[in-house]
Amino acid sequence: MKLIDPNLKCFKGNTHAHTTLSDGRVSPEECMRQYKAAGYDFLALTDHWHVGEERSFQGMLVLPGVEYDFMFPSQTLHLVCLYPDAKLAPAVKRRETPHEAVIEMTNQAGGAVIAAHPAWSLNTPEFLCSLEGVSMAEVYNTVSGEPFNGPRANSESILDVAAANGKAFNLIAADDAHFYQGEQCVSYIMVQAEELTVPAILKALNQGSFFASQGPEFRSIRREGDEIIIETSPVSRITVCSEKYWIGGRCMQGEGLTERVYRPQAGEKRVRIRIADEMGRMAWSNPIIL
Ligand SMILES: [Zn+2]
Ligand SMILES: [Zn+2]
Repeated sequence: MKLIDPNLKCFKGNTHAHTTLSDGRVSPEECMRQYKAAGYDFLALTDHWHVGEERSFQGMLVLPGVEYDFMFPSQTLHLVCLYPDAKLAPAVKRRETPHEAVIEMTNQAGGAVIAAHPAWSLNTPEFLCSLEGVSMAEVYNTVSGEPFNGPRANSESILDVAAANGKAFNLIAADDAHFYQGEQCVSYIMVQAEELTVPAILKALNQGSFFASQGPEFRSIRREGDEIIIETSPVSRITVCSEKYWIGGRCMQGEGLTERVYRPQAGEKRVRIRIADEMGRMAWSNPIIL
């Protein structure tokens, strides 16, 4: 069983960016220009409560998207929603529409729902576990880190707690670009879609056919018997994470590693792979159900 298939093309994309249509510092055109110049195949413009239209920018696909936010006493919920067509986005009102309605309407419209920056949002595992209809969460959100924000870009730890409690999200990395002062074009996903179209990208996202990255690549992830075989670009760490709080030899470290064969240990029901290169840039696989 191949989870990342080396024979399929990967499309590089950022699912989360803001422009002057909400609180971003650059125009949609300038945002698209920067991502296109950085070699992205697709981008979603996800301004707050403003649904961006589908378009093509010099061959780069721009997905219809929006970011909704909801306030709770000790935390907030930001949902990045992507749609097959901007016209299918529900007509929802800020502060009036409950998040459950947005999730349901977006799924009914054939869209994709991503829980944005859980660590930045101070989300509790219980809250994340209650998000029915949300299959993806941002494991890394560039602008939620320093120097743009506090040190809460990385949501791995809290998402591991949610996974251990029964809610394993597929993992997105995105920039959430606002300032365009170095947080843009950093964290992205590589999507194994059949073609570069909005429906094909949304289908692949909802199926979990992608990995998140800041540079390192998964070349292949496959299961053979009771082993997981992981092939990567040259990295310095290949780490296997699971709902078990302790596993011996979780982290393999070395110079120019490109392969690891992992045999899941007793009690592991689900594992995910995290790799890091010598510059500290990371990539994350989706959880693999054993
Ligand atoms: Zn947000
Ligand atoms: Zn945002």
